[in-house]
Amino acid sequence: MVDGTGAPPYAADVVVRDGRILAIEPAYTGVARRSVDARGKIVAPGFIDIKTHSDWTLPVVPTADSKVGQGVTTEVIGHCGYSVAPALPGRVDLLRDYLAPSAPWLPFRETTFAEYLETFPRTSVNTIMLVGHNTLRLMTMGMDRRAPKPDELTSMQRLLDEALDAGALGLSSGLFTAPGSYAEAEEMVTLGRVLRRQGASYATHVRNEADRVFEAVDEALALAEACDLHVQIVHLKASGCDNWGQAQRLLAVIDAARRRGLEIDCDQYPYAAASNPLRNLLPLWVQDGGDAAMVDRLKAPATRARIRTDIAAHGLNSFGRIPSWDAVRIAISPRQPEDAGKTIAEIADDGSGDPIDAVCDCLIADRGATRIVIASMSEEDVREILRSPTVFVGSDGFALSPSGITGTGRPHPRIYGTFPRVLGHYTRDLGLLTLPTAIRKMTGGPAAALRLIHRGLIRENYWADLVVFDPTTIIDRATYDDPHQFPIGIETVVVNGVVVVDAGTHTGARPGNVLRRTSRGVG
Ligand SMILES: [Zn+2]
Repeated sequence: MVDGTGAPPYAADVVVRDGRILAIEPAYTGVARRSVDARGKIVAPGFIDIKTHSDWTLPVVPTADSKVGQGVTTEVIGHCGYSVAPALPGRVDLLRDYLAPSAPWLPFRETTFAEYLETFPRTSVNTIMLVGHNTLRLMTMGMDRRAPKPDELTSMQRLLDEALDAGALGLSSGLFTAPGSYAEAEEMVTLGRVLRRQGASYATHVRNEADRVFEAVDEALALAEACDLHVQIVHLKASGCDNWGQAQRLLAVIDAARRRGLEIDCDQYPYAAASNPLRNLLPLWVQDGGDAAMVDRLKAPATRARIRTDIAAHGLNSFGRIPSWDAVRIAISPRQPEDAGKTIAEIADDGSGDPIDAVCDCLIADRGATRIVIASMSEEDVREILRSPTVFVGSDGFALSPSGITGTGRPHPRIYGTFPRVLGHYTRDLGLLTLPTAIRKMTGGPAAALRLIHRGLIRENYWADLVVFDPTTIIDRATYDDPHQFPIGIETVVVNGVVVVDAGTHTGARPGNVLRRTSRGVG
């Protein structure tokens, strides 16, 4: 058993009753209704996926197959500024179109954040919700590229307050793309003060992860300092080949901030490729006014020429320079599903031969909804960040099922493979981490950062969120070519004392709860 604190493994029986861990004993002698023989296996706290987008899919796939299939029992959703609530009267279509490359299957309806939490379906995992800054901006000022007027800022503050009152963990931002990118630091400080007053936290996809990544991280640190906030820098990376080799320096900047007393956490997914809507690779001005305006604009040769010039000069928006367009591959294209799996270079070769034309033509045909996978990081940097015991593991994925509508396309393999990949490939096979440290990065570490009440460790009276896996066989199987693949080695998963995965198979149980932030913590 590995308890999630980072302490070495030891042999023990873990006794569960009424959803909680009743006892941890060397050899339990009482009677059990059901026992799981975990000899030779590891029993660990269920993995906490601290960085996800499962609000896009859980209502469609409440069994969260790709999550529990890798041992995840709790996830934090609504990251990068993109939450599916609130959706206010007259703004539902705007939010649906905005999230089309991310949540093409989701039915959108008018909802306040409180109603959203109250009516969230029972799922197989516990969920913790963030409210997104991009969503708040869409609700108050659409896709306008400007600072908010005073009444609009007040309206965003009110919506944020409402979400926090309802139990949201905090605010997420996605400052790298529209409309979050239109926010100046001052707007974020105003919202940060609301978070401070409510004792909530801030999770940020920083303004730039490529050539200006240090500036962007500094902005996040400055907000932590200005508002006295806990800040989580999500999916930490150095993107774009001009920035490869910068991971160590990035970690040093964050460590120095912590030594100054700032409360900073980060997370990472264990892959050298990112995933995003295709439109987000283009210069920010391309999206002015929203998708319909963008699609019109992309038809003009002059627009394409300007995009070519901008990308030649600065690389891709937030992703930096890529070695070639082989690095960008279509993941999901709702209106041109046959494109899934093709690279932009391949699509260009089949057409005019020009990759920018290929990108623009894809976006026009798909009305902006195309999602891509982009190989923009160096493996060395991925390993450098992964080796850090203080960087948590977060998939940045969303719950999917290989059967049914979400089992289509070629989404990022992190959706199925993140946690087994860290434990099998990076920990066991490459030896970058010890097993207790790797597990702490997935359990006790994030639980403390999130202030979870009685979760994240194997302790008496803690919630029985548990995973049993085989440390000799655990490995991810999902690949870029064949992503809808469950990992090997996850045997039993228990959520709130209920078996969700039994001998590697989903039981159909949905014992997960929506966990809300209170003054005592999150539970
Ligand atoms: Zn992000």
